Amino acid sequence: MALSRFEYVKQFEQEEKLLPNSWIVVRIDGKGFHRFCNVHSFSKPNDLDALQLMNLAGMTVLQEFNEIAIGYGQSDEYSFVFRREASVYQRRRDKLVSYVASLFTSAYMFHWTRVFDGRSIAMRYPPSFDARAVLYPTDENLRDYLSWRQADVHVNNLYNTTFWNLVASGLSNSDAEKRLQGTLASDKNEILFSQFGINYNNEPIIYRKGTILLPKSVLSSEGKKQRLIVPIFEDLISDAFWAKHPEILDKKAKTDELYDLGENEAQPVVRYQLEVQERRKAGMSKSETGNSLLATDHS
Ligand code: ATP
Ligand code: ATP
Ligand code: MG
Ligand code: MG
Repeated sequence: MALSRFEYVKQFEQEEKLLPNSWIVVRIDGKGFHRFCNVHSFSKPNDLDALQLMNLAGMTVLQEFNEIAIGYGQSDEYSFVFRREASVYQRRRDKLVSYVASLFTSAYMFHWTRVFDGRSIAMRYPPSFDARAVLYPTDENLRDYLSWRQADVHVNNLYNTTFWNLVASGLSNSDAEKRLQGTLASDKNEILFSQFGINYNNEPIIYRKGTILLPKSVLSSEGKKQRLIVPIFEDLISDAFWAKHPEILDKKAKTDELYDLGENEAQPVVRYQLEVQERRKAGMSKSETGNSLLATDHS
């Protein structure tokens, strides 16, 4: 194509490449979700469906980028860790950050009705997510980053669980806030236990620890090996987690070992992927019988 005389403006574009050989963490965070949660009547302090929606959107991002070693979500945020050697978009910062944020946002919209139809929660205005890329040079830095995010959900969730129980017991928001001022974790555990009979450690683990997403090989119902994005609810601060999932830090440690889904098979993220596969298969078998129209995959 002939160049127009305007073409020179292209040279003003600045391209930043992310440092090679370092972990790239892209973290997205919901904009003004305090309000978004209120407007859409999310349960306090944890709306399980809203968390599952975040997990489905996170799953979509992991399906798109095969260089993501681990995803971690809590509250209105998700972190995606790209491998040191990732070459996605030649590591162009703008491309990567904007694409992850926009794919996450559109997937959040895409899965909305699947999650909220049962409760008839209609989307009142379009949500948006910011995104940033942070580089971590060492494995230790990366582990500390993820530990920081998981410690954050612990601190917030212990506070919020105690706060909303106090409010439910009749305290005003400001009185509940005053009651909790200056309290330590042990004090909040004690309030929960003595006033409300709640043992914090028995609260659902997804609220206490957030959700880890990992690509894993699992056995299908027909006994075939397949790759799935699997949600895992574990303490990632401990060494045990990294020993159990060595392929996160070392791609070569990827074993042929099959991952046992256990009770996580019932998680929406797993059910959704299996449903899509079923639909694909059904489509294929119809096309095999000659009905190509019905074989169209709208998933
Ligand atoms: P910003 O635009 O600066 O990120 P924000 O209002 O999104 O502002 P955050 O610090 O990101 O503030 O906090 C997220 C808010 O969303 C918190 O108030 C949190 O309690 C709420 N929230 C997120 N997920 C859920 C959920 N699943 N159920 C209920 N509330 C949630
Ligand atoms: P990249 O991811 O690098 O942006 P791309 O495939 O999106 O790759 P673009 O250079 O952005 O490439 O080009 C957009 C493409 O979409 C062009 O092929 C253009 O013809 C097509 N396209 C965009 N809008 C329309 C439209 N309204 N109707 C038909 N084709 C369209
Ligand atoms: Mg936010
Ligand atoms: Mg947040």
